[in-house]
Amino acid sequence: MLVDDRNRLGEGWPSLAGRGRRHAAEALAVATGERGTGVEALPKTLPGVVCQQWVRCGRPNCRCARGQLHGPYAYHFARRGGCLCKRYVRPAEVDGVRAACEARQRQRRDLAEWQDCCEQLAAQLREAQAP
Ligand SMILES: [Zn+2]
Repeated sequence: MLVDDRNRLGEGWPSLAGRGRRHAAEALAVATGERGTGVEALPKTLPGVVCQQWVRCGRPNCRCARGQLHGPYAYHFARRGGCLCKRYVRPAEVDGVRAACEARQRQRRDLAEWQDCCEQLAAQLREAQAP
């Protein structure tokens, strides 16, 4: 399941209409209270991936209604409790979030290699101890 309220801007967000030419993503960030906190400290590793997407803001008179979508914007996708969560990533944070995702993937690969090593070692020990 994809959890993303921001793809449903057209419905129930009347305050966004008529704000002129404000950048769609900025408007999203304001509406969801993501601004004003500054750039948060990013964790060193993150599960998931960063992907670029083109978006529709939902304003009926906007160019995106005629197929000229906004973007591309970066989003972080990650599984959380069986759901695929999606979060807008500000341009300033894209590199950091992407690096954290890659670090997590490296970590998981390293861990898998270690587990393989341990299993091989354990198998060799069992063999050596066998009567
Ligand atoms: Zn639009």
